[in-house]
Amino acid sequence: YDQAAHAVLPTVYERTTAAALSHQAVNLGQGFPDQEGPQWLLDAAASAITESHIGPPNQYAPGTGLPALREAVAEDMLRRQGVSLDPGTSIMATTGATEGIAATILAFATAGSQVLCFEPHYDSYGACAALAGAELVGVPLTAEDFRPNLDAFAAAISDRTSLVLLNTPHNPTGTVFTAAELEQVVELAHRHGALIMCDEVYEQLILDPEQQHRSILSIPGASDIAVAVSSAGKSFSVTGWKVGWVMGAPALINQVRGVKQFLSFSSGPAFQWAVAQGLRDDQGYLSALRSELTEARDHLSAALDEVGLRPNSPGAGYFLLADISELTDLDDAAFCELLAAQVGVAAIPVSALIIADQFPRNHRLRRLVRFAFCKDRHSISEAAKRLQQRL
Ligand code: PMP
Ligand code: GLN
Repeated sequence: YDQAAHAVLPTVYERTTAAALSHQAVNLGQGFPDQEGPQWLLDAAASAITESHIGPPNQYAPGTGLPALREAVAEDMLRRQGVSLDPGTSIMATTGATEGIAATILAFATAGSQVLCFEPHYDSYGACAALAGAELVGVPLTAEDFRPNLDAFAAAISDRTSLVLLNTPHNPTGTVFTAAELEQVVELAHRHGALIMCDEVYEQLILDPEQQHRSILSIPGASDIAVAVSSAGKSFSVTGWKVGWVMGAPALINQVRGVKQFLSFSSGPAFQWAVAQGLRDDQGYLSALRSELTEARDHLSAALDEVGLRPNSPGAGYFLLADISELTDLDDAAFCELLAAQVGVAAIPVSALIIADQFPRNHRLRRLVRFAFCKDRHSISEAAKRLQQRL
């Protein structure tokens, strides 16, 4: 485990939030909404703390999660994805998707093996692969439109690959993988005896009506080799609640459970209870949230374009990417420092989300900055104003 690479610094998200606070910058770095989740959901959690209808509300939840949550996840997966899961054996609650990702990687990435991901990737994948004693290998998404390059993926996967890490909808590009792309990954994983973990935390936040989220578990041939990870944090704007879950075949979930029980064991029953209510009936929240996110994306996108920071067109999620090449020769990290300190807008350099030493300094993935648009109108307007006046 490489301490220097993974353990010494706080994550890029925390460092960016600290920089935003110290410069009084608008924080478009760390991906958390600055509006609360819906009041009825907050009320459900608050009342669950003082009521015993969920079992002892302030003591350990069952290690695999409250049955009510697992049942609600199963119903939701059947309704939206046509995937039938046994809540007793195929779904396990975790302390956020973060713990689900860690437990899955620790369960399936054998020491000395390779773990494959697309680049850029969510930072915890590399840290957890290192904890497992495995090597993370990245296959860059295409430079033009951030789609998976399946020829490059086919060339990279081998019998040394223990685990493939997918993320759809993808952070930070907003790419939504198509069923055909997922099918090819499943086929290649089968051929090389690799398992798949698919991180689907942005599954409810599809902003482009032409696109559709497909869970890995809905892909033919995936059910015996793949687990999906999701979370309530983004869907209900409650990132601090840390209610996540892992889904898949009972034999795979059982292995992940074996690790998870020694990480957190379990977490907050009242939050799990409230999330179960939200999954059963979102009371129109998700469609309103998608409209707000779309409006914020378009507003920020136009403001970035106006100052020469060329944005991509994310089909989903919280983030957009801006290419800084036209505006500056600085590298992405130096540009983000300048942006926070002198312009008053905090963002994340994409070089923090790739295996940086595998890419030359002028590679397109190192000329990109990630902006979070999951922020209220005032924050987006203020950021737009500062970009226009100070850049
Ligand atoms: N995966 C991705 C791709 C994420 O962006 C995040 C954080 N937002 C997580 C996992 C972690 O999710 P959670 O907050 O539920 O632990
Ligand atoms: N997932 C969030 C992001 O991508 C950050 C989560 C965290 O701070 N660990 O910005």
